[in-house]
Amino acid sequence: MLITNAKIVTWGNPNQVLENQAVFIKDGLIREIGPTSDLVKRYSDPAPVDAKEQFLLPGSICAHTHFYGAFARGLAIPSASPRDFPEILNKLWWPLDKSLTHEDIRYSALVSLADAIRNGTTLLVDHHASPNAIDGSLDVIEEAVDTAGVRAVLCYEVSDRDGPEKAEAGIRENLRYIQKKSTDGDLRSKTSATFGLHASLTLSDKTLDRCKEANPTGGFHIHAAEGDADQLDSLAKSGMRVVNRLHSHGILGEKTILAHCVRVDSGEIDLLSQTKTWVTHQPRSNMNNGVGTAPVEAMLNAGLRLGLGNDGFTNDMWQEWKAAYLLQKSWHRDPRRMPADEVAKMAVYNNAALATVFFPESLIGTIAPGACADLILVDYHPFTPVTAANLPWQIIFGFQERMITATMVDGKFLMKDRQLLTLDEEEITSRAKVLAQKVWKRYNEKFGTG
Ligand SMILES: [Zn+2]
Repeated sequence: MLITNAKIVTWGNPNQVLENQAVFIKDGLIREIGPTSDLVKRYSDPAPVDAKEQFLLPGSICAHTHFYGAFARGLAIPSASPRDFPEILNKLWWPLDKSLTHEDIRYSALVSLADAIRNGTTLLVDHHASPNAIDGSLDVIEEAVDTAGVRAVLCYEVSDRDGPEKAEAGIRENLRYIQKKSTDGDLRSKTSATFGLHASLTLSDKTLDRCKEANPTGGFHIHAAEGDADQLDSLAKSGMRVVNRLHSHGILGEKTILAHCVRVDSGEIDLLSQTKTWVTHQPRSNMNNGVGTAPVEAMLNAGLRLGLGNDGFTNDMWQEWKAAYLLQKSWHRDPRRMPADEVAKMAVYNNAALATVFFPESLIGTIAPGACADLILVDYHPFTPVTAANLPWQIIFGFQERMITATMVDGKFLMKDRQLLTLDEEEITSRAKVLAQKVWKRYNEKFGTG
């Protein structure tokens, strides 16, 4: 396939913005980039895709999300509003995730994936919970991801909050799925596995050791220091802060993701940096939960591997860029904080490096020969010059998700001319609406029952 007349943003190192370019794609990979006049002569594609001077970028990557949270949209909590993060878990997320069946899991994934494709997000790292439908839940999500055609990394969150049997079932589901992915022999697979853990505050020493023993060389995906409660709980349980506690159980490392790390101190940041542990930043979620502002600049300065996720908010990652950019300035009352190129470092370069942890055979997140053809077309008509140097600011102030007209993964269009090609959005939406009502009913029945 030949895409012609594109303005390419390579997100290479250094980044380049190239005009009047063509990209030749074969077997899911970008094979060549060059001037349109040059490539049309050499590749005889009978029906090249004319980008009509739209911007062609690598698809966005989301480093931490929860498909299962989709049905929380518009849900009324049947009591006083939660006053802190533990109450948000107790009043919203835990009765909700207990209400999910396999079909709810499938449709909450499908609506999230349709949203991701519309918003140009082509790889998502998901963290799943459904305590009353644990076994096989990752297969259900995998099937939805495969139907949608994006890439995803899946895991199930192990927790002691519902007793030892559910904790063991969570371990079993992670191990089953990790085993499945490691033996399917499909190097081109668009799904990958990791081992999920909820958070230090719902995990005993015994369960953490059991998980490490079950998954001795693999990584983990866990929430950490999202709020003060996680730190207070960890200090009470172990005398250690959360990051130190997780380290003492062998959870940190080059394949492990710690989501949030809002309430970490400089010692914990050093430990995360030394162990090359990944951290993800979700500013919209942190603001919504009122848990504080993550010390992301201190983390970046310490050389920590920090990516950007959405925590189940909408899958338009440029919204998360904007929140990350504005939050630090507002919090520190200093407009010099968090320049846009630092946001790009998290959202583009670090997220792309994180992708290689789970897809080691693939070059993802850049437009270069040999890279995966995971691409988006953006119909942006800037009234100021766009350069490689100012692009992060153009994205913060100019790019809007509604300008995304096409999304491609592995050389296949998932959306073209704003039409979804792999998902029947109308069917998905109408079925989800029916299912969400039933989930809300069960949620109300479970509310307050623990
Ligand atoms: Zn999360």
